[in-house]
Amino acid sequence: MQGTLIAARYLLSKSRLEQDHSSTSPARSVGITLVQVQHGNFIVGSTREPAGFDCHSTYGGIQELAAQLLELAPSLAEARLLRAYAGLRPITPDGSPIISRAPQLPGLILAAGFGGDGLAMSAITAEMITALVDGDGRHEFLPLFSFERFSTNEVVL
Ligand SMILES: Cc1cc2nc3c(=O)[nH]c(=O)nc-3n(C[C@H](O)[C@H](O)[C@H](O)COP(=O)(O)OP(=O)(O)OC[C@H]3O[C@@H](n4cnc5c(N)ncnc54)[C@H](O)[C@@H]3O)c2cc1C
Repeated sequence: MQGTLIAARYLLSKSRLEQDHSSTSPARSVGITLVQVQHGNFIVGSTREPAGFDCHSTYGGIQELAAQLLELAPSLAEARLLRAYAGLRPITPDGSPIISRAPQLPGLILAAGFGGDGLAMSAITAEMITALVDGDGRHEFLPLFSFERFSTNEVVL
């Protein structure tokens, strides 16, 4: 298989739990991404669970992923599960990262709270940090990600 399969349900799952922080948000959202690596194994993702700092994979998450995967790719019914892993996607209350000097400690530069987009944003984040460190602190996107947009007690990292 070439390329990456991203199910529409994955995009819905992603926006649902990264943008809906209300008490009615679901306990888990699941949507398939599927990629085959060079030696033949498949990597299947992913779930989102508002589980605080718990980094354990859950049986329920694996089960839901398997069920959705089989709808999309029934030929993988005999595939064996080698490994499951989980990680954190820390996010801010408004869903955008903080890329900013810390107001009380201007020598400290923050780049955090990327949710599920930190890899995709790595290059532009490096550009913004470079502007903060080496340049005049100007970059067209920096105002969007300032620490000051939150009062201190609203920031949850
Ligand atoms: C399952 C999963 C799938 C993802 N898929 C994607 C994707 O497809 N595309 C995408 O763009 N993003 C994806 N992400 C999100 C992406 O991984 C994160 O947004 C990104 O890694 C955040 O980068 P970071 O540098 O802020 O934090 P991290 O990558 O978490 O780096 C923080 C580092 O600090 C270290 N650290 C922590 N505490 C201490 C301490 N006290 N002292 C010293 N070091 C410490 C940690 O060990 C870690 O190395 C995914 C995340 C997960 C969990």
